Amino acid sequence: MLPARPLADFLNAEAAQLAEACTRCGKCVEVCPVVPFGPMAPVPPQDVVEPVAAFLAEGRPMSEAAGAWTAACNGCGACLPACPEAINPRKMLMLAAAKQSRISSKTPELFRRMSRSIKIMIAMQLVPQEFAKLFVPARPREAAMVFYLGCNALRTPHLLFNTMFVLDALDVDYEVVGGPSSCCGVISTKWEGAVSTGQRVTNNTISQFEGFNPEKVLNWCPTCQLHLGETLDGYRKTSFSFDHVTAYLVSRFDDVKRLIVGPVARRAVLHIHAGCIEVGHAVERLLRAVPGLDLADMVVESGYTCGGSGCSRSPELAAIEHAALLDRVRETGADTLVTLYHGCHAIFAGAEGEGTFEVLNFTDILVEAMGGIPHQDMLKRYRLLDDWEMIVTEAQPYLRANGIEIDDDWLKRHGPDILASAEFKGGLDCLGVAAARAQRP
Ligand code: SF4
Ligand code: SF4
Repeated sequence: MLPARPLADFLNAEAAQLAEACTRCGKCVEVCPVVPFGPMAPVPPQDVVEPVAAFLAEGRPMSEAAGAWTAACNGCGACLPACPEAINPRKMLMLAAAKQSRISSKTPELFRRMSRSIKIMIAMQLVPQEFAKLFVPARPREAAMVFYLGCNALRTPHLLFNTMFVLDALDVDYEVVGGPSSCCGVISTKWEGAVSTGQRVTNNTISQFEGFNPEKVLNWCPTCQLHLGETLDGYRKTSFSFDHVTAYLVSRFDDVKRLIVGPVARRAVLHIHAGCIEVGHAVERLLRAVPGLDLADMVVESGYTCGGSGCSRSPELAAIEHAALLDRVRETGADTLVTLYHGCHAIFAGAEGEGTFEVLNFTDILVEAMGGIPHQDMLKRYRLLDDWEMIVTEAQPYLRANGIEIDDDWLKRHGPDILASAEFKGGLDCLGVAAARAQRP
């Protein structure tokens, strides 16, 4: 079913409604954890939020403090219960960020750069059959479920194959939708300010879901969860429910428990996020069903995820919280740090180099508890090698097998930025249009 109105009209209407309901009381700013780390810190809370509401209502340019607050929002959600008007300040800032990027985007060509970066990263980690599973769209058929990966989770493919192991063990009838050809549209709409492109991308992906006529779309990516489930809530009617895959696993908790066949003897600290706390709690419940697993602590980080659109928006706060997490792992004597999302795993995988604990994703633990062998975590292997001579030597056979010819020197030069998702900070020019033109004969 096509939407009744253009996405730009929907976003403008949502923005106008929120701006009208907002009394500019500043309570959301008072509780916001990113505020102390930017130029908005000394500004009275009402004066931080007022220009955001005015920007959304009448297009008045935002002040430095309001613009910085909008750019730094890590999606933690602390402002939601603080708002006396029961409106959603996080959504207000998402809409302000999207509107600001329509005026001037700090990350033009992000989608192009991100797509190429993701393709290189998964081609460095997977054999061709697995590469095709994530990158080549499945043929439409009737399927009870769609497992939706989003785009950036493909950078850490092992946790997606682990999740598929669990879905297979539960005998779920599903098809996989994911990769840049099935983006939720957030990159175009929020980061590039290209709403008409965002509308096309979002509708194309929803149509891909509908091609399977599923009852449920089981989502992995927290950014897709916020974009499709919160920012675009009400934009388009769908015939399926959309929720995180861990909610589905919890809904089948007794079946999951029956499939757990062995102990996983570890003492672990679980890392979760306040912005999608229900996902963290779902993972905790699943892990507590694993015999032998001693959850020594659960550390809740603000933000809705680690990475470009989450904690990286407020890097000083992220550095403090990440240091506190690693301290907690050391203090508890845990032998395992358990990560939540792909962004978290990509950031913390290298911490295993300390030598006193392993970094595993929660899906690694579930697969092991079900008697399986977790998928090889090549991203962690590359992070731990931390030597681009050696990484290139290991990665080239995978790249060539997947039909990607890359010069060794080019990969050594740009590989660190590709692994660091530098395009979200305006980097990786080498994957942009100008670089592609320069390479043409
Ligand atoms: S979601 Fe978190 S970071 Fe964003 S405005 Fe609300 S409290 Fe601040
Ligand atoms: S708490 Fe709610 S009403 Fe008050 S300024 Fe923030 S969004 Fe507006």
